[in-house]
Amino acid sequence: MAKQEDAFKKVVSHAKEYGFIFQSSEIYDGLSAVYDYGQNGAELKNNIKQYWWKAMVQLNENIVGIDSAILMHPTIWKASGHVDAFNDPLIDNKDSKKRFRADVLIEDYCAKLEDKAQKEIEKASKRFGESFDLATFETTNTRVIDYRERQKAILSRMAKSLDNNDLADVKALIEELEIADPDSGSKNWTDVRQFNLMFGTKLGASAENATDLYLRPETAQGIFVNYLNVQKTSRQKLPFGIAQIGKAFRNEIVARQFIFRMREFEQMEMQFFVQPHTELDHFEAWKKKRLNWHLALGLGQESYKFHDHEKLAHYANAATDIEFKFPFGFKELEGIHSRTNFDLAAHEKFSGKKLQYFDPEKNENYVPYVVETSIGLDRLFLALFSKCLKDEVLEDGSERTVLSLPPALSPIKAAILPLMKKDGLGEYAESIYNDLKFDFNLNYEEKDSIGKRYRRNDALGTPYCITVDHDSLTDHTVTLRDRDTMVQERVKVADLRRIIDEKTNFRTLLSQL
Ligand code: ATP
Repeated sequence: MAKQEDAFKKVVSHAKEYGFIFQSSEIYDGLSAVYDYGQNGAELKNNIKQYWWKAMVQLNENIVGIDSAILMHPTIWKASGHVDAFNDPLIDNKDSKKRFRADVLIEDYCAKLEDKAQKEIEKASKRFGESFDLATFETTNTRVIDYRERQKAILSRMAKSLDNNDLADVKALIEELEIADPDSGSKNWTDVRQFNLMFGTKLGASAENATDLYLRPETAQGIFVNYLNVQKTSRQKLPFGIAQIGKAFRNEIVARQFIFRMREFEQMEMQFFVQPHTELDHFEAWKKKRLNWHLALGLGQESYKFHDHEKLAHYANAATDIEFKFPFGFKELEGIHSRTNFDLAAHEKFSGKKLQYFDPEKNENYVPYVVETSIGLDRLFLALFSKCLKDEVLEDGSERTVLSLPPALSPIKAAILPLMKKDGLGEYAESIYNDLKFDFNLNYEEKDSIGKRYRRNDALGTPYCITVDHDSLTDHTVTLRDRDTMVQERVKVADLRRIIDEKTNFRTLLSQL
């Protein structure tokens, strides 16, 4: 546990030290669970967005992208169910005065049971060596079966109680399981209450005439209310999708995990409109596609798992999360939901406008069904950052910190480093910079020893360092150092554009999809 916490602390401090993420309003002691992206963070974030947008919009003829407003008509949130049901169950500890999500306390308890099951599996796998058969062990070992059955029983009881709004039973469950405040150890809990997560704001010049609005808690509704505008103007036929990247706001009860749970964050969402009764096939297809998209980033298959929902949201008939192994355990990175025709039908009812699609093949009108993929941009940022940040001991015993981001996502693609500023090396390096800057985001650095500059660029995730020395002036070659292998080779200045492009373009990522 301590090791995990240290690794996470390192992620947070590295993100600040290298200009990726700062606490919002830091000089005023910060604003809880709100963060600013610095010069390198903004670049990395933009690159992640591009990877998603290109994979969704550019590679799919039947998906288009939009950018809808954050402020929307307040009835939208009534229709979508957010005014009545976008709640989290909260519970306070009377001794520590700390607030928790009751469902998360119970889920964490179950995660500990699963850890115990995994430990049994690990022990047995070591004991049996090559003859170990996981499937047989999982279905016959009484301890593993017991840990899993207990988890299942607890989660389904919680799902039932939350569905029935039986908050007294949620509290009873916490007490029966003897769940304690993870920090103070106290079991002295208040009752469980529902808390709406939407931020309210006002539109209008004077207090009397102002209209109450909400900051959108998800980008999806901007897609739903525009779906017919887009369908008609793009002439799409079902199935087709609308993608969007944008800010969302949630007044989260507990926000203690850096950019994992923020009050202002960004979502990348795609709503796929399909014929009724085909939605579950599309749901399965999108599960596969989205996992492949993640796997292409090269963070390792073992970093991901699906978690099918026991408790379905009010709008869904199937739902799964793609979970990622963050430094604090497996947690939701992306949600894939079969949202039925709930949202469009509700908007028809509340707006009084027809939102039906005319199907030319069937020659009939109907409200399409929807499969949604929804990923938190900031969560993916954290996933990449925490998995790619490594401390390495080199052959000569020295150490380095390297951020081995997929090169297409690296904030800076190459650093141009003159060995020294004098003897014309600075000018020659600058001419290379000025030539390549139209194609790539570059760093130009003259200060510090070359070793220090290499280390600094490793820590920023820069895939290539280009060193200009005295020979460069006469033979027009430079030393090209690879971030991951640290191999240095002599290459022609004239070849730099091609070499950097081959390593850092999006094609390599996208062609795996
Ligand atoms: P959680 O269970 O972690 O609260 P959720 O199920 O409420 O998440 P969704 O409503 O499905 O999340 O939102 C889709 C995606 O948006 C999530 O998979 C996550 O990546 C991201 N997301 C949701 N809430 C936050 C938040 N407070 N901060 C950062 N990202 C978030």
